Amino acid sequence: MELYNLKHPDQTVSFSQAVRQGLGRDRGLFFPSSLPKLDNVDELLAMPFVDRSVAILNAWLGDELGEETVASLVRDAFTFDAPLAQVCDRQYCLELFHGPTLAFKDFGARFLARVLSHLAGEESLTILTATSGDTGAAVADAFYGLDNIKVVILYPEGRISSLQEKMFCTLGGNIQTLSVAGSFDDCQSLVKLAFEDEPLKQAIGLNSANSINIARLLAQICYYFEAVAQLPEERRHQAVISVPSGNFGNLTAGLLAKAMGLPVKRFIAATNSNDTVPRYLSNGQWEVRPTVATRSNAMDVSAPNNWPRVEALCQAKGWSLAQLEGVAVSEAECETQLTALHKGGYLSEPHAAVASRALSLSLNPEECGIFLGTAHPAKFKESVDELLGLDLPLPEALAQAAVKPLLSEFLANSFEELRAKLL
Ligand SMILES: *Cc1c(COP(=O)(O)O)cnc(C)c1O
Repeated sequence: MELYNLKHPDQTVSFSQAVRQGLGRDRGLFFPSSLPKLDNVDELLAMPFVDRSVAILNAWLGDELGEETVASLVRDAFTFDAPLAQVCDRQYCLELFHGPTLAFKDFGARFLARVLSHLAGEESLTILTATSGDTGAAVADAFYGLDNIKVVILYPEGRISSLQEKMFCTLGGNIQTLSVAGSFDDCQSLVKLAFEDEPLKQAIGLNSANSINIARLLAQICYYFEAVAQLPEERRHQAVISVPSGNFGNLTAGLLAKAMGLPVKRFIAATNSNDTVPRYLSNGQWEVRPTVATRSNAMDVSAPNNWPRVEALCQAKGWSLAQLEGVAVSEAECETQLTALHKGGYLSEPHAAVASRALSLSLNPEECGIFLGTAHPAKFKESVDELLGLDLPLPEALAQAAVKPLLSEFLANSFEELRAKLL
């Protein structure tokens, strides 16, 4: 597989290089030089999720990593299902929250972890990342127990919920968690300093595993096929998929699935009040406003970092951006939709409710809607309990973590101390 830098098209790299480097020159995103097309989509849709995912990822990676290797990485990463739940007559939810940390990020993070571990071989790597809560859990869990990779996670002391802290600070083993006397921005600055320290980088094989990594995106293509595979066959060609979006990695993966030949009539880019993309799609002006806090906080992003990939993909396929519908959903609409879904017998959470609301606004009579359920309702227990008058029980994974002791160490807000710890 060859990829090129969207900012400097003359810079081309292999998949392995793209995974190791993350970003290209001038922080440009890597994008595939060619897009594979599958000629046996109906056959693939009849296959079980994991076998089909092996075939999909082999179309991208088989030539570089070898088909057997890809198969074993996929089988090891995708150990949970993505069921399609019918929510009402014309809406389905693709539930992506049945993985170990109860959010769709498990798919991408688990695949990336196994790819990196494979590429590192005998070499040892250190993943260094800062978290304000949720990504820490997905990354820690995904890399837990991989013996050539050490993970160091920084988070602001006392500024994440205690349940969030329990989810990634109780693992031990190759996962080291540092509670920093400072803010999330301080944690990010420390990480940045580490990546600028060339001798340190070389000494410990530093890598960031962040969300623009191409390995994560490719893994996410697989569950779009799973969504369409579970639709009744007569509805297959009328599918409209609504994606609750923040950094737009998820939507990019959906468009890549369509580029490979998956029948999807159209996509909806659903956002909360952080609506840079819906405004851009309607008036052509890219205007980034200050980020506002909402209940769907994983989507509180006003400068989405994957957007250049969406544009590059549309250009490569000759698709007009106008085919993509942007829908911004207000906080009040999100709350109303969450309540309406619950009245109809479906328990959801704010991110999925935004996507469901966008479908309700946009679906034509002959179409069939799918929205992505990106997180388990209990992960947003506070909002869900308050809006629906419930006291949601904690799922097994959360309940188990909640009673384990914290293993974090304290770290002053000092790069020298961090550097010493890393070495
Ligand atoms: C990360 C996240 C999103 C946004 O996904 P992007 O790929 O950044 O657009 C939506 N919902 C939840 C629950 C998330 O954690």
